[in-house]
Amino acid sequence: MRTRLDHLVTSALQQGSAVPAFTCYDFTTALAVVGAAEESGLGAILLVAPKTAATPNGLRLISALRGLADAASVPVAVQLDHAMDLNVMADAVAAGADSVLADGSSLPYEDNIALVVSARALLGPDVVLEAELGDLAGDEDRAFGADKSGASVAGLTDSAQVEDFVARTGAQLLAVAVGNVHGKYKGDPQLRWDVLQDIAVRTHIPLVLHGASGIPAEELVKAAAMNVGKVNFNTELRTGVLATLQKQLPGHRADGENLQALLGHWTRTAKDFAAGTLATLTR
Ligand SMILES: [Zn+2]
Repeated sequence: MRTRLDHLVTSALQQGSAVPAFTCYDFTTALAVVGAAEESGLGAILLVAPKTAATPNGLRLISALRGLADAASVPVAVQLDHAMDLNVMADAVAAGADSVLADGSSLPYEDNIALVVSARALLGPDVVLEAELGDLAGDEDRAFGADKSGASVAGLTDSAQVEDFVARTGAQLLAVAVGNVHGKYKGDPQLRWDVLQDIAVRTHIPLVLHGASGIPAEELVKAAAMNVGKVNFNTELRTGVLATLQKQLPGHRADGENLQALLGHWTRTAKDFAAGTLATLTR
């Protein structure tokens, strides 16, 4: 059943766990994620990247994911990820997204606040807004992550700004930069637990960790105890599916095979990853 993203996250936090959010560039992956969620009896979040949402077919994908969420036997929310363009936000919500990350984290502080306030004014009170404070290194859609220097102090969320930022934006979730990066980690991720702890005592709204691919399971569980109720996965899911397709494709003759066998491999890879993640977060 389609569920408000903040309600989904809050109820998971009450059980001591976080909800995984998976970037879906296509319907096959989304079906696999929801299938894994249904088999585990747990909720999940479907993320749509802003570049996807900025196209007419991307908006159709959002509508399809909304239908999938409506029909699911477990709580599922659909979120537009990392959006800066108000028109894209409005289109995504009209197409069926019930939550938006209004991401002004690359802007000066006051402009970041202004973007979230504008998003709220445009989208209305029923759309769940996530905001981001701090500068996350790496590229969301590519596997080139930042090295550990990407998690330099300069990019970390300034915990001293958190109370003001949350109060003035009215955001319902806060994405933070505490040493997490988008893409692949070079070396081991070094989360700044001191910064996360400092943020967690300054706001009661759920926190969000982007770039969770590559962060050890036990650290995600530990983060959930510090009010991190949503963890975003893109890299591991995407590269896992691509690796499977690369491996399987040479065995599929174009003149003799149907697509179903290949889609089956795709689905199994995505489903196994989602199922493993769900199990990890709730153990
Ligand atoms: Zn992200």
